Amino acid sequence: MRIMDCHLHSDMSLDSREDMENYIKQAIADGDEYFLTTEHANIIDDKDDPFCHMVDIDIIKAKTDAMREKYAGKIEVLFGIEIGWFASVHDFEIEFSKRYPFDMIILALHGRPDGDTVDARYDNYLRQCCQAAATFGNYDIFAHVDYVLRYIGHTELSKHKDRLTELFNILISNNKALEINTKQVPDPQAVERIDYILSLYTQLGGRKLTIGSDAHSMPVYKNGFDIIIPLIKKYGINHLYFYKERKECKIAI
Ligand SMILES: [Zn+2]
Ligand SMILES: [Zn+2]
Repeated sequence: MRIMDCHLHSDMSLDSREDMENYIKQAIADGDEYFLTTEHANIIDDKDDPFCHMVDIDIIKAKTDAMREKYAGKIEVLFGIEIGWFASVHDFEIEFSKRYPFDMIILALHGRPDGDTVDARYDNYLRQCCQAAATFGNYDIFAHVDYVLRYIGHTELSKHKDRLTELFNILISNNKALEINTKQVPDPQAVERIDYILSLYTQLGGRKLTIGSDAHSMPVYKNGFDIIIPLIKKYGINHLYFYKERKECKIAI
């Protein structure tokens, strides 16, 4: 099996225009056994927030089922989702996560935290990540722990070692996977952050990683995997994970 991209958006997410089928054709050409998209399920009562929208899960499920049937025997199409966590809708999101037969659930935070400096804002972001990771329960993977730095600017992750340690320990003790998000690779600062994340996570005993490009279009599907897979192996990790029927599966790298 080739390396599966575990974080992907198609035109069923509001910020993508890519047809799911285009990725599937490439995944088959790559020799992948499994495929899924992880469309945004950002459920929030503020409809004016451009970063948040309700997801039409029935459309996603119907498309996933149709693709599974069409490509049966060539690749197995799974049903994934990326739930964007907000404290204000925590209970509703838990209920949503249990209502559909997902194969794999990513939990992610997309807010823009307050603060006077990049470090203050990032600390605020990580605090919320810890709260979500510790209380949500019904998820498999925690996504892009440096997400907000894409928008507020780079900082050294070593300055946030304590908070990242708290987050990684929550994931490890709850048997959740940590996502290595390659969206910004080969940006040297993004690669440096991934290196730090891998170093700290493996020092703490973490072994359960997924990899995802967070692609919203075909040209960046599996972006940066060629750079990041060797880096992951450098830390003694020989398998990556994905989830089928909410059960963990391994891919050798
Ligand atoms: Zn995300
Ligand atoms: Zn995403």
